[in-house]
Amino acid sequence: MLPTRGYAVKSAKDAFEPFDFKRRTVGPKDVLIQIMFCGICHSDIHQVRNEWGGATYPMVPGHEIVGKVTQVGQDVKKFKVGDLAGVGCFVDSCRECANCKADEEQLCEVHTAFTYNGTEQDLKTPTFGGYSSQIVVDEDYTLKVSPKLSLANVAPLLCAGITTYAPLRRYHVGKGKRVGVIGLGGLGHMAVKLAASMGAEVTVFSTSQSKEQDAKRLGAKNFVVTKDPKNLVALADSFDFILDAVSAPHDINMYLNLLRLGGALVLVGVPEKPLELSAFSVIGKRRIVTGSLIGGIRETQEMLDYCAENNITADIELIPIQKLAEAYERTVKSDVRYRFVIDMNSLK
Ligand code: NAP
Ligand code: ZN
Ligand code: ZN
Repeated sequence: MLPTRGYAVKSAKDAFEPFDFKRRTVGPKDVLIQIMFCGICHSDIHQVRNEWGGATYPMVPGHEIVGKVTQVGQDVKKFKVGDLAGVGCFVDSCRECANCKADEEQLCEVHTAFTYNGTEQDLKTPTFGGYSSQIVVDEDYTLKVSPKLSLANVAPLLCAGITTYAPLRRYHVGKGKRVGVIGLGGLGHMAVKLAASMGAEVTVFSTSQSKEQDAKRLGAKNFVVTKDPKNLVALADSFDFILDAVSAPHDINMYLNLLRLGGALVLVGVPEKPLELSAFSVIGKRRIVTGSLIGGIRETQEMLDYCAENNITADIELIPIQKLAEAYERTVKSDVRYRFVIDMNSLK
């Protein structure tokens, strides 16, 4: 077993503390990754605070992991020692069900082993995430990372990148499409960059007036402050696609009214309480409300390669791991520009 240092919380009310635990020894198909950077996703906060229920402790969060391969098993083909590698929101799945075979391992019909706050395929061994010094993952669940991009800025692609890329592709977002993005946080700012790079005309819907210039710099054409719903009236029936990346309860009906006939609103944000849906928001224009959960390994690799080709990474604030509490507070206040990333050099 491999002694590993991480940061964990012991309950929903506790602060982060250093936590020593063991990773499995490197198996024939495993790679050992020395973690260099790990992004802070709002899902980490929801789970640490048990806002979705069912949390298990001690919890070492973190599923936006990048680092360097320091050891490979004898049967590993994709990686060699010294390569850059990434790990996202899951580290294993059954590999045999219809969804796994369709490259949708995140939706495994048997068991997706989430990177933390989950269990391995034995349904017993707890998983610990990327707020830690190293991780052992099967090469099939490990991503190749291009050395072309700044590694710290790549980390958020492993969750915020794929979670926004997948629905944009699924709904054929591109030239001639009007796209709305609700919530300019970690996910939202990636959605703006990606949708703009695909040629769409992007409008950001935000509660934060102060983010207008950033939204335009990131690629948005329009910026709408949503605190006054009157600002939305003139935009009725004009969007093809809206991505909702809001982490807290909010009114989705006022955004549904902005979709044209058959347009879709995709929820990626996961507020802790159910949202209210008025039938009137969907019946008239046959609007679609759906959701999306991260993406499979094949598509995550496609997204990473797309970002390397198009020079797309996250805008980040790099922090030492000792600053987790402050980073969580600022994220909850919508005050992150636009993703906190932990510099794992600070983990001593
Ligand atoms: P984040 O960085 O905190 O961004 C959330 C944004 O939502 C904020 O920046 C803010 O944008 C807006 N917002 C926050 N509170 C609001 C409120 N009360 N009313 C209206 N808008 C509000 O979070 P994130 O990491 O991007 O994650 C966003 C959500 O997606 C979280 O719920 C997370 O768990 C979920 N998530 C889902 C998946 C998936 O696979 N489906 C993957 C990752 C994350 P403005 O300042 O612009 O208003
Ligand atoms: Zn995430
Ligand atoms: Zn499966």
